[in-house]
Amino acid sequence: MKKYGPIDARQSPRFCGVASFMRLPHITTTEDVDVAFIGIPFDTATTHRVGSRFAPAEIRENSRLLRPYNPAQEIDIFEYCSAVDYGDADVVPGYIERTYERIVETMRPIFDAGVIPIAMGGDHSITLPIFRALATDGPIGMIHLDAHTDTWDEFMGSRSMHGTPFRRAVEEDLLDPERTVQIGIRGAQGTTEGWDYSAEKGMRVIFMDEFAKIGVDEVIAEARRVVGDGATYISFDIDALDPAFAPGTGTPEIGGLTSLEAQTLLRGLRGLNLVGADVVEVAPPFDPSGNTALVAATLMYEILCLLAEVVACEMLQSV
Ligand code: MN
Ligand code: MN
Repeated sequence: MKKYGPIDARQSPRFCGVASFMRLPHITTTEDVDVAFIGIPFDTATTHRVGSRFAPAEIRENSRLLRPYNPAQEIDIFEYCSAVDYGDADVVPGYIERTYERIVETMRPIFDAGVIPIAMGGDHSITLPIFRALATDGPIGMIHLDAHTDTWDEFMGSRSMHGTPFRRAVEEDLLDPERTVQIGIRGAQGTTEGWDYSAEKGMRVIFMDEFAKIGVDEVIAEARRVVGDGATYISFDIDALDPAFAPGTGTPEIGGLTSLEAQTLLRGLRGLNLVGADVVEVAPPFDPSGNTALVAATLMYEILCLLAEVVACEMLQSV
């Protein structure tokens, strides 16, 4: 099998060339590919500050610094794993349902080919059409990091906003609420209706005060217990992090995770049955330093490392 990997920075400095995710080849193919990075630059479903349509470009720019050897796992991921930058889904600005259809059309061939996508939003509404393309054999489990549960029913009459995707996903039988863990939830509420829905459906909600009390290792153990060994998706809303670490987002909420806690948490998810992931809600106009996009790129890299290890184990088992 052919392997796609990044440009060697010892041959070509990191600031050279057109930015793709991690300087991987930009190819829209699923052949000989284990993992595909894909941008979904859509922010029409945002309820407050817009700007996440610019996230894929900014994340790619800030991903130039990512390097293949991850000391947490002691592997060079591209010895095992073939990854490409699949480009962006062609969204329709201003039109949520039409964009959803396009996202399903874009994602379905990726899933059908057995390729694992790591998507970069866009606002959090994009995860619902990803689930529509993915969960064709029944509901999946989810590890969801966010300040918000995103299980509200509607916003000003619209049922397809960035605060509603996981309620719709449960209603459409795409997401198993009893195999869902929501981590980092916090903040004052207009109404607790979303929180109540998560609890009623049996989602495990780890509020930030519980996170602070039990610590990251206990949170990892709890997340692993909830999702078990079934198909699991990681959905990472960057506002799970404290705005001190990730200010470039649409609905910031203080009192969140540190970037180290986020990294540690992801590194604790080794060996799970991961079928896809996304990092959403990065809004570059609110962070001229680019740091939020760097954090997002690095979190995507940590997820890639988890997947590379799964591919490596499969390779070793088949020898
Ligand atoms: Mn969210
Ligand atoms: Mn959020």
